[in-house]
Amino acid sequence: MAPVISIKNLTKTYASGTHALEDASLDIEDGEIIALLGPNGAGKTTLIGAVCGLVSITSGSVTICGHDNVTDARAARKMVGLVPQEIALDIFETVWNSVRFTRGLFGCKPDDAYLEEVLRSLSLWDKRNSKNVELSGGMKRRVMIAKALSHKPRVLFLDEPTAGVDVALRRDMWEVVRGLRDQGVTVILTTHYIEEAEEMADRIAVINKGKILLVEEKDTLMQRFGRKHLVLDLVDSLDTLPPALAGYDLSLSEDGTQITYEYDTNAERTGLTRMIADLAENGISVRDLSSHENSLEEVFLTLVEETPAPVEETA
Ligand code: ADP
Repeated sequence: MAPVISIKNLTKTYASGTHALEDASLDIEDGEIIALLGPNGAGKTTLIGAVCGLVSITSGSVTICGHDNVTDARAARKMVGLVPQEIALDIFETVWNSVRFTRGLFGCKPDDAYLEEVLRSLSLWDKRNSKNVELSGGMKRRVMIAKALSHKPRVLFLDEPTAGVDVALRRDMWEVVRGLRDQGVTVILTTHYIEEAEEMADRIAVINKGKILLVEEKDTLMQRFGRKHLVLDLVDSLDTLPPALAGYDLSLSEDGTQITYEYDTNAERTGLTRMIADLAENGISVRDLSSHENSLEEVFLTLVEETPAPVEETA
């Protein structure tokens, strides 16, 4: 199936000379939740702004449901809904009017039955006649989502949906997003919380310094990096590892006092018992051992630390 959104070689250089995006390419599939994960200033907001038509593109292209978002901007923009980071609501307007008004802005005919569905799915139906000013922070965020869904977009963008939000509200938002996915909405969210990407996304794209460093199914990513290191402190230091142990993924520290064994925690057999027996058979005595698991956080930090800085333009 053709991707819902196809981002090709997208580059954005702001007038200030900042290269916010460099040659970013990404296909977004129908019905998935994809998290754009990266630290502050990585280029996440610029990326979704460029896709939604709020930020002009320096080079590259974006198609949304086959519509180019520059040459066929109106049709492309109708396909997307954007929930920005900041809550921006007319505080004296009612929930119902806010949502109806936004739908009108997209040039869509009124469809109260659809809007009722949206409000019910976001647990806002009972609040439809309340003024925005009377709502809690979590409800205001949900009104922002309802507005973004008011013209029935195929894809919903959520920019840092839980930034500065307490833990309970964050969990609430995760539930809301999962509910949307269950209704068939494709969701693209940006976050700098690894836990959020881990919790919600089907796929994760790691972005830093304007570059997409990796795009991977979350499960594959977790599995790939769900590896453990067992560090064995040796009684006597070694010059080299005995050739008889070549079958194991072992490495010897420079000073010869530690062996590190890397193994897959998801594998049916980790080979630990045999490996330790083989060490003993080769006359290697272990004084102490400790184990350590790679987390998504470490993967992320390694990727982010390794990204070279973009070259700033000089006028
Ligand atoms: P993120 O959303 O990942 O925090 P942004 O896309 O907001 O990152 O920013 C990426 C880079 O572009 C940053 O260096 C930021 O300072 C810069 N930037 C963002 N918006 C503008 C703008 N309107 N003008 C100039 N530079 C900008």
